[in-house]
Amino acid sequence: ASIKAYNDIKGEYNKIFNMSRIDPLTGLNNRNYMMDVFDELDKDRKKLDKLAVFVIDIVQFKTINEITDHKTGDLVLKEIASSLRAMFPNQLIFRSDSNEFAVLTDNKIYDKEQLRIKCLDIAVLLTSPIIIDNFTFNPDIAVGCDKYTENTRNCLDIFKNAEYACGYSKKNFINSHSVTVYGDEIAGILSKKTMIEKMLHKINFEDEFIMYYQPQFDVDGKVLIGAEALLRWYSPKIGAMISPGDFIPIAEESNIIIKLVNFTILRAMPQIRKWNEQYGTELKMSINLSPKYLNTEKFLKDIQEIIKRENIKPSWIEFEITENSLMRAGKKMVEFFEKLVNMGIGVNMDDFGTGYSSLAYLKHFKLTKIKIARELIESIDTSISERKIVEAVLNMSKALGIKVIAEGVEKIEQRDRLKDLGCEQIQGFLYGKPVPATEFERKYLKKTTEKST
Ligand code: C2E
Ligand code: MG
Ligand code: MG
Repeated sequence: ASIKAYNDIKGEYNKIFNMSRIDPLTGLNNRNYMMDVFDELDKDRKKLDKLAVFVIDIVQFKTINEITDHKTGDLVLKEIASSLRAMFPNQLIFRSDSNEFAVLTDNKIYDKEQLRIKCLDIAVLLTSPIIIDNFTFNPDIAVGCDKYTENTRNCLDIFKNAEYACGYSKKNFINSHSVTVYGDEIAGILSKKTMIEKMLHKINFEDEFIMYYQPQFDVDGKVLIGAEALLRWYSPKIGAMISPGDFIPIAEESNIIIKLVNFTILRAMPQIRKWNEQYGTELKMSINLSPKYLNTEKFLKDIQEIIKRENIKPSWIEFEITENSLMRAGKKMVEFFEKLVNMGIGVNMDDFGTGYSSLAYLKHFKLTKIKIARELIESIDTSISERKIVEAVLNMSKALGIKVIAEGVEKIEQRDRLKDLGCEQIQGFLYGKPVPATEFERKYLKKTTEKST
């Protein structure tokens, strides 16, 4: 009966709408139409309470598009769409975003475990290899799902929860697929997220944020090379530190991130001038950048302005951008980096080895330095494959004239391995944790030859 109800809605919509509701590439319904269907379902509680929504994401899709061409990407999307159609012949299927699909189904038969099995069925189906011309493509698939409960306000809520669960799958990705059914655990994460989001909009940054600095050394830990500026948020309301790993991704979802980046730059830049002048050093300050919402033209102008006003040598500054956001940012970033490097500012690729970039991809960017991710360093002393990857990164960087720093070095054994492999710079708890400026100065600078004052 419920399938019939959906078909009825489908039928009605078919009459009212024309092709504008169809995604021309896949022939599936598009996102606009999905919103209309949601509105329609909201009008009738009886239909809503039968609903389960699956959201499906092709994980590294943008990379496929960049590495191959758009034609291949298009074919992959078409294949996925037709597999979904075969699996859900009588349900509404949407292309809800460029590489995201949504399926609306009747949840009557599904409890939580059944939903999880259904998610796995979808993942298994869609991770089957797709053969295009003469190469085989193995999609990585993340699936999220939610269904109607008493707390559901409207259809969009269910979809958003499913989308959030899918995002969670993406983050906790192992092997070729990952599935998540929205539930208490995810709801808890979401409510923490909402709380942080609200606080970020309200608080006065000057009162609650402070910069910490983590030292970077030569491989033996003898020569201080520079520092990374890392933001810390102490919330009196919560009475605790909130980790940047928790609040930066949330800030990145809105233009709050611009304020955060500005806050960091306006503190870290004058700080490095002060230290270099006072101690006669040529230390470098690494500053994390988030390319989201980054107006590159304005940013370059602002930086030029600060450098001039604060009397800063461009060679003292390095901007860091993570491998993953770099992959997402695309061509515009290539030019942006070139301009920074031409200004004499360094550009570092952060967390290298956690994303999907091929080593060959690196040559498209004008990079100064690669930071090998902690995840790779973690098992460098125990795992041969990790060691081989790090070795390859070091060799390739050398060939391209790019410097390498290893981050997250905690143990002597890791340091020794890195030294054997020819890595020259190290950042990690082994040589120093992030600390406030005064402590950094006391621990790492007062020891070096102080200029006569
Ligand atoms: P990241 O840029 O990769 O920073 C390195 C992170 O690794 C820092 O975490 C640092 O405390 C931690 N770390 C360094 N050495 C070790 C080690 O030996 N062992 C372990 N377990 N961890 C180590 P933190 O400060 O929590 O920052 C997390 C991430 O948040 C940063 O990763 C960066 O992406 C972001 N972030 C932090 N501050 C800022 C900022 O001012 N602006 C922006 N845009 N992002 C920031
Ligand atoms: Mg960093
Ligand atoms: Mg990092």
